[in-house]
Amino acid sequence: MSSFIQRTELKTVYYTPVHCPFCGTRVMGADAEDETRITACPHTLFIAHDTAFEYRSERLDNNLELSALSELEIEQKWSAHRNGIDGFTDEVTVPDAIKVAAYAPAPSAYGSYYGFAPIA
Ligand SMILES: [Zn+2]
Repeated sequence: MSSFIQRTELKTVYYTPVHCPFCGTRVMGADAEDETRITACPHTLFIAHDTAFEYRSERLDNNLELSALSELEIEQKWSAHRNGIDGFTDEVTVPDAIKVAAYAPAPSAYGSYYGFAPIA
């Protein structure tokens, strides 16, 4: 039986840059000119926030059975999850996957989600 992605939450220093735990790539904000730019390494499964996926890997699409769906169908799928994109990405079962969930404090309550997994 496969297990679900392991979660780590950032709630206090939620703004700290997230790096891949397997190769050290800084996946967001590495470009000083454009802090919103994403640098996905081969281990990156997904990068998302509460309203959208910023990046989805083929491994993620295969694991969550999204490959055959349109972008609209994918959005409908995670939107229908009771915990939105956060809960949806908790259902990843890629072996030894790790998720970092960074929550900005209330009243913003804005979440960013980063998923990684080693390559077998
Ligand atoms: Zn990596």
